Amino acid sequence: MRLILLGPPGAGKGTQSTRLMTEHKIPQLSTGDMLRAAVKAGSPIGLKAKSVMDSGALVSDDIVVGIVAERIEEADAKGGFILDGFPRTVAQAQALDAMLEGKHLKLDAVIELKVDEAALMARIKQRADETLKAGGAVRADDNPESFQIRLVAYRQQTAPVSAHYAALGELRPVDGMAPIDQVSAAIDKILK
Ligand code: ADP
Repeated sequence: MRLILLGPPGAGKGTQSTRLMTEHKIPQLSTGDMLRAAVKAGSPIGLKAKSVMDSGALVSDDIVVGIVAERIEEADAKGGFILDGFPRTVAQAQALDAMLEGKHLKLDAVIELKVDEAALMARIKQRADETLKAGGAVRADDNPESFQIRLVAYRQQTAPVSAHYAALGELRPVDGMAPIDQVSAAIDKILK
């Protein structure tokens, strides 16, 4: 199964990806996680991406498309994958469409988690508080300033990705304001 999860920061993509990954035995390909790993490793991509990510803005399409193209070639992604945080621009969506077409692969679903903007800030704050309480490290972009920039990037650059898949007749919206198990049930119904 090949899925895309779309939705603003804090929409619950990570929560749903983790569950779907276990249930369908397919990897979650999170560009955010891959980029954070590159930053941590101090690789050339990480060095380029760090300050952009910390600010809340988007890393260039070239970099992100490159890491996804490499990642979906790996053995564990041959049987399917969940894309989380990619595509985030229409150019990335077009690059993905071309990548899949070149391999004669099709997406099974593009699911959009819809959440009110007002709720997002509260969720991110809660994530940061819980991480701190658990003694973990809060993400450098989970602060109010970077979060505002992430929301603007979402509105301006990522919301058009939904329109791209809607025009192709592939977009399946889900109410991301519902309790987690209801969101899960709605997604499972789409995938059945
Ligand atoms: P969020 O929790 O806000 O959805 P992610 O963990 O997916 O965030 O990504 C964190 C940051 O990594 C983004 O703000 C951006 O700088 C960078 N990033 C992740 N995925 C992409 C992408 N597909 N295109 C450009 N930048 C990306």
